[in-house]
Parts: sequence; C-alpha cells; structure tokens
Amino acid sequence: MTVMAVVNPRLDRFVVRMRRKLALPQNQAKGDWRNESDLWLLSRLQAELSEMATALDLGDREGFADECADAANVLMMLADNSRPEGA
Ligand SMILES: [Mg+2]
Repeated sequence: MTVMAVVNPRLDRFVVRMRRKLALPQNQAKGDWRNESDLWLLSRLQAELSEMATALDLGDREGFADECADAANVLMMLADNSRPEGA
C-alpha cells in the first residue's frame, strides 16, 4: 500500500470536517474572506490555535479536531487571498 493510499482517506475526512465547519451559519455570516486583510486573518489563526490548546486542556479530542479544521480553514483563506485575482 502506498503512502497516498493511506493519506488520501484521512485527508478526505479532514476536508469534509473543514467544509462542515465553513458551512455553519455563524461562519457563513462572516462573508467573503477576500475582504479581510492578512493581518486580520493571522489574528483569527492565533485565536483558533488558542481554541485548539483549550480543547486539548479539556481532553476534548473531537473539539480539538474541529479546531484543527478551523485553523486549516483560516490557512486556506490566507493562501486563497495570496492568489492573483481571477486565478
Ligand atoms: Mg474555532
């Protein structure tokens, strides 16, 4: 079995979690991240990292995985904002 055969299902599960978190009404209400500055998004990333630490402290593994998805979504937004307009 190749590494990718192992990684892909795990990656797919994480992407599903990212999509689920982005689709929450409270996140939909935040609007388009293209209107946010990199510095603001970095502050959101720091907040998500803090939420990850809190979930770990509480022993909340499911909550920790959700916060990992939140952090990954913010990283996706930062990368998305770095691409040229229309790309
Ligand atoms: Mg969060």
